[in-house]
Amino acid sequence: MSYYYKAETVRQAIAGQWLFVLASLAPELEPALRKPGRHVPCPIHGGKDGFRLFKDAHETGGGVCNTCGTRHDGFELLMWLRGWSFDQCLMEVGDNLNAEKLYRKAQRIIPPAQQDRQKLPEAKTSRFSSKGELVNFGPARYEHKPENEMSYFATLQSAHGIERTIWGVDIERALTESGATCGDKVTMLNRGREAVTVVREVLDDHGELLHEESIATHRNTWEVINHSAVREHEQTETTDRLCQAQSNGGQSASRLRVVACEQPIREEETLADEEASASTTGVVPLFKETQQGPDWLHAVQTKMEQQTERRKRHDAQPGTQQLKILKVWDECLPIASEIAAPLHRYFQERKVLVRFGTLEQGDSIRFHPNLPYWEENAEGRMVEVGTFPAIVTAIRDVDGQLITLHRTYLSNHGKKAKVAECRKMMSVPEGLDLNGGAIPLAEPVEGILGLAEGLETALSAYRATGIATWSTVNAQLMKTFECPEGVHTVIIWADRDRSRTGEVAANVLKARLEANGISVIVLLPQLAIAAKAKGIDWNDVLVGQGILGFPPVRQLRSFIENRRSRSM
Ligand SMILES: [Zn+2]
Repeated sequence: MSYYYKAETVRQAIAGQWLFVLASLAPELEPALRKPGRHVPCPIHGGKDGFRLFKDAHETGGGVCNTCGTRHDGFELLMWLRGWSFDQCLMEVGDNLNAEKLYRKAQRIIPPAQQDRQKLPEAKTSRFSSKGELVNFGPARYEHKPENEMSYFATLQSAHGIERTIWGVDIERALTESGATCGDKVTMLNRGREAVTVVREVLDDHGELLHEESIATHRNTWEVINHSAVREHEQTETTDRLCQAQSNGGQSASRLRVVACEQPIREEETLADEEASASTTGVVPLFKETQQGPDWLHAVQTKMEQQTERRKRHDAQPGTQQLKILKVWDECLPIASEIAAPLHRYFQERKVLVRFGTLEQGDSIRFHPNLPYWEENAEGRMVEVGTFPAIVTAIRDVDGQLITLHRTYLSNHGKKAKVAECRKMMSVPEGLDLNGGAIPLAEPVEGILGLAEGLETALSAYRATGIATWSTVNAQLMKTFECPEGVHTVIIWADRDRSRTGEVAANVLKARLEANGISVIVLLPQLAIAAKAKGIDWNDVLVGQGILGFPPVRQLRSFIENRRSRSM
């Protein structure tokens, strides 16, 4: 039975399903699917880490190889991986999703050998041509009207952004022969009308074949010139050389050559033949709703949906509290500013006057010259007590979006301000979640991230080791911290409290991160807790013993390297 899918139907059916369809139709994508957004070897050209799926691949299915190029959505990705045309891809994805099929009164084209071809006189000249970027193509009912016969279309976008759709059954053959795909610059030439014999299938109401009839008719013939083909050819050759240059890349190199040699040119086939050759055997469809597929795939899907949800919440119309937060943040100055002298003195006293340049790149710490301090008065009303210089830090979620601000109120001389609570967090806007957040002070390098509760502790570890160290503000946020992509080892510079709060929080986080395959080192200060103190932290170590009180950074790094090489 001859059937097809409307592109729109498949697009609707695949909404939010891309990870599952890709895992099913292209199992070689597993390394990329396990960690979307992170680099893995390219499934086509190999290499070390040139390929990644987009962070929204669960919605788009797209990915990019630094060498092979960008595949904007899952259709382009599968066409690239499998060498499919768009309509083949639509059939595969439609079958995989069990999407709604449409049955056609198909016009089967008789193979050329059986045809009595008679070119009409005007066939030699091009009647008109159209040039632009190929933005869409595929089988569809003529002019997308349900009452019309099946045809084939190509939509070109001119340099001025004007789209034009051209219709004709022969466009499919011409496009395939040109090897053009979405994004390619093409010229389409109408080569005139050609006499052909088509077989029309006459179907009953249930879509069953009643009989076939032959009809002599004419058809527009097309030629597609693919201007991107030359460029791509050069690119492929470069890739080939790169692959051959790799000492252990033999397998991927030979695979690439096969792909590169595959000529997209084929003889005119009957539609039925094409469908038979397009269907892949042994493919197991995977679905999100029915819990089919491996656990890791569902875990990745859940995580990506949560990220999308957070982004959407964040991008929604900002509420009053969000505007208050942004106002304070906008009023702040860079910490390197001369006006930030109280901050400089405060940091100097704690020996954490570090690399302002690096900290400013992270844009999570700023200085406010005169931040109002509010307090509840005897009648329970909030009143402004005064304004103070303040260190203002940004608590961001795992995607880097601002959740709220933390403030440390200072005196003009760089001491803690004489107020009831000199450290305060602004309220979290409705709809946002503080859990998982942290103050990201610098970009992690080589997959290693340090973590501490307080800002001063984090800056102490950063100063002593040079390893990017973030502040989780308090023990509660330490427990819920969400590790950013690309980090393989976390060093927790834990607070040593009499209550053991800091130690417990560090170990809770350690257990959770290790369950996710992240290596964790918990380091507690070895100094004795002073008689009247509640505890001791790594800033006390820095102030008391200097950098020598910290584990030597070389030792730390070689410990991490050894541990990693053992586990790999
Ligand atoms: Zn590649």
